[in-house]
Amino acid sequence: MSFSYIDTHAHLNLPAFAEDGEAVIARSKAEGVGVINIGTQAETSSKAVALALLHEHLYAMIGLHPIQTAPSAVADEETGKGGTPRVPEAEVFTKDFYRQLYQESNGKVVGIGECGFDYFHTEMGSYAVQEAAFIAQIELANELALPLMIHTRGPKPGEESPTGRSVYADVLAVLKQYATVPFNVHFYAGTYEEAKQFFEIGGTISFTGVITFAKVYEELVRAVPLELIHAETDCPYVAPVPYRGKRCEPWMVKEVYKHIAAIRREAESVVQHQLLENAKRLYPQLSF
Ligand SMILES: [Zn+2]
Repeated sequence: MSFSYIDTHAHLNLPAFAEDGEAVIARSKAEGVGVINIGTQAETSSKAVALALLHEHLYAMIGLHPIQTAPSAVADEETGKGGTPRVPEAEVFTKDFYRQLYQESNGKVVGIGECGFDYFHTEMGSYAVQEAAFIAQIELANELALPLMIHTRGPKPGEESPTGRSVYADVLAVLKQYATVPFNVHFYAGTYEEAKQFFEIGGTISFTGVITFAKVYEELVRAVPLELIHAETDCPYVAPVPYRGKRCEPWMVKEVYKHIAAIRREAESVVQHQLLENAKRLYPQLSF
């Protein structure tokens, strides 16, 4: 099928979409938006694959989010209004489970993740446990020749990271040591210098709806090569302007495209074309 936009990082596999997920999927299709749903643990990875098998314009990634490597509370957005709050058990990344899931996906698993480091929820897991899960996922990605979706979140303001370095420096060091496949650093909020270091070893970065209301991203969005970026929603989180405060949905990624074009003073059609090319380059299984 053909689509005109791609949301490279969404979570239609989360309980926030349990009730009306099909309507959201139909809206995204009607708006010409393809979607990659990203797994955060075994259950949501399985759900992402199940959705991709049912809908031509949906794809999946499978993996273990660093905060799921320890027992953790779940954000309200994930549960959804009236949803049942849940406290997930800590999970271990087992290659056999995820390899099997990949084999059952009929080619619709386009990458491994999201994996990486999360220092914001420090009480929820130790660095060593997150690192072990991260490395195991890199090894599986290498084995299957699939790209990686990288999660990075620094410590709360005023708090130290467990290594004393930035989360970007830590992720970069692990990728350099272990990864033989390309990767995308999602929800990028680092510096231009750090972005350049990712670009040098085969990485890309992606921007969310945050760039539609946080001016602090403008310089970075303008400076990075258009060939090395992606647009995403990270839905149900961070709806872009003019949908702030609502539950985010994949078709809203069009606003992220629009803002990238506006900030860079480039034609929307140029940005749209290039971002589709970028997604196809990193995820060759996408068909559009
Ligand atoms: Zn995510």
